[in-house]
Amino acid sequence: MKQGKAIVVFSGGQDSTTCLFWALERYEEVQAVTFNYGQRHALELECAAAIAAELGVQHHVLDMSLLNQLAPNALTRADIAIEEQENGVPTTSVDGRNLLFLSFAAVLAKQIGAKSIITGVCETDFSGYPDCRDVFIKSLNVTLNLSMDYPFVIETPLMWLDKAETWELADKLGAFEFVRGKTLTCYNGVIADGCGECPACKLRRQGLERYLAKAGAAE
Ligand SMILES: [Zn+2]
Repeated sequence: MKQGKAIVVFSGGQDSTTCLFWALERYEEVQAVTFNYGQRHALELECAAAIAAELGVQHHVLDMSLLNQLAPNALTRADIAIEEQENGVPTTSVDGRNLLFLSFAAVLAKQIGAKSIITGVCETDFSGYPDCRDVFIKSLNVTLNLSMDYPFVIETPLMWLDKAETWELADKLGAFEFVRGKTLTCYNGVIADGCGECPACKLRRQGLERYLAKAGAAE
């Protein structure tokens, strides 16, 4: 039985769209929140809005342009190349991003009476983002509960899945074709299977190929 209200931190990408389907299966009411922080591609926001509309999910877009003011990075600045830095953290990393996004999502969640906050962060394909780690999410969950005296639960359905298992989850939710055809993961702003060349496309394709090989072998 579905119950309660949830908010999904939603970018219009593969992971958060899979989380949106996951939430729709579990909760009576689901809303989505997208953060506008001056992404390289305005298309990312359009894509998120289109998916939310198609799924009949109320969609909030919050302005987080101050993030780019504080921490210029390769996701928002065309003059910064997407690559791994000497410390192993990619230039697509934005200090404090998930801390800020989840905190703002929590303020919104409390306003709309939702206790569950769902995010597609994942530690399995940990690529140097410290705020995708499970220990960070658990720590923030406690902090949010204390800060607003409210029983938030941050849910992370993808935390221990690899990219192939994330495709498998989408398939189980009946959303494989939707996720494959309508989401935007590519750093170069190409919907669905993407440009094929950027790190995000490579990761997505490797996972897809592994999943399709596994699903094919099982038939
Ligand atoms: Zn790409």
